[in-house]
Amino acid sequence: MSIRHWVLIACLLALPVWGAPLPALDEGIALVGAGDYAGAVAKLAPLVPDNPKDSVLQFWLGRAYYGQHAYKLAAEHLAVAASRDGRNRDIAEWYGQALRAAGRLQLALDVYADYRERFPDDATLLGDYAATQALAGDYAGARASFQELAKLDPASKGSVDDWLRVLDGLSQRAQLEPPLLQRTSNFGFYGDGKDPAASWVLDEVDKARAQVSATFGVRVRNFRVLFFTAESAYRRYAHIYVPDDNDLHAVAFTVRGMLIIWSPTAWPEPGDHHDELVSTVRHEMAHLAIAQRTEGQGVPLWLNEGLACVIGGTGGMQTGRPPVPPIPLAHLDSTFQNPDVSRVEEGYSQVHAMATVLMDTLGRDGVLQFLDRLADGDPLPAAYTLLAKEPFATFLDKWPERFAARKPAKE
Ligand SMILES: [Zn+2]
Repeated sequence: MSIRHWVLIACLLALPVWGAPLPALDEGIALVGAGDYAGAVAKLAPLVPDNPKDSVLQFWLGRAYYGQHAYKLAAEHLAVAASRDGRNRDIAEWYGQALRAAGRLQLALDVYADYRERFPDDATLLGDYAATQALAGDYAGARASFQELAKLDPASKGSVDDWLRVLDGLSQRAQLEPPLLQRTSNFGFYGDGKDPAASWVLDEVDKARAQVSATFGVRVRNFRVLFFTAESAYRRYAHIYVPDDNDLHAVAFTVRGMLIIWSPTAWPEPGDHHDELVSTVRHEMAHLAIAQRTEGQGVPLWLNEGLACVIGGTGGMQTGRPPVPPIPLAHLDSTFQNPDVSRVEEGYSQVHAMATVLMDTLGRDGVLQFLDRLADGDPLPAAYTLLAKEPFATFLDKWPERFAARKPAKE
């Protein structure tokens, strides 16, 4: 065999390694840009074994995982990109955000402190640093960073002032919380013992906790229930987490390991509200169970809300009639932040119906496997196809008629 032959064979062997990934990389990047994160993961993840140190690939795969709410995986891939390309501020920005979303606050603070030296004039990174300090409970540090930000970027003054107000709220948070009323083996209940609803709300939380834990195959525990009687106290506390009052449509909500609830004795409409309360508590408990089962990874908001409606309840919301035509999947999550309550209810109606059909298709165990796969970073369409033995596009196409077809049997 001549030298020429050797060269040719060497080139052919090398071709799949450095020749083929490029179009797939470009396609993956375009999919991230179009918001098709599952498609992007499916395109980019297979390229990693042959190109483990490619910072461009790792950056875009990290962003695709971030879009899928798989923050731990996002942080892993962005960490590789950041270590290969330490001067790239876009990588820095996304790496910091992924660490924060994955709950790795201490590492995020270390990384941001390092970026402050590398990118001293970058207002966005400084703002992200300050927000992370606030999240981590370093309110004094956050205050100093926000004040520095207002000097560095005068245009940011409005949002800095908003943040300083939130920081005031956070520092007062302990004073805004009601006192501990009872500690069970699974949760702490904080509230006014003179409220006649306190003891039955506590009982309902405990019952819902047991039922929802069994359904999700986890033991929901180590959470706090903050039970407010006065509307003003409930709203003042909620304001820390839901800065715009207009967005607070609910009598209860959950944030990391906390169930915050307003006493039915003070709800505006007359009545004992027992059924709505039970349904509301179960709905919020389902969110806590999903968070516990998945460690908060990989489950999009629409699915989270849909399963909370099916397994928990809807808190008296009318969700039987999903909108026609359906809200496109890409716009569904933002529906829940819509200031128009009727639009929010349409969103709940739709995700309730979608999750009902999903439950019919996969069964309880299948839904749990589905959640586990999403938590592991599998793209949602791929996880669905594997478990349901049909393309996810078929589900998106058929859920309205499948939902309509099951209704007469139920009534
Ligand atoms: Zn919910």
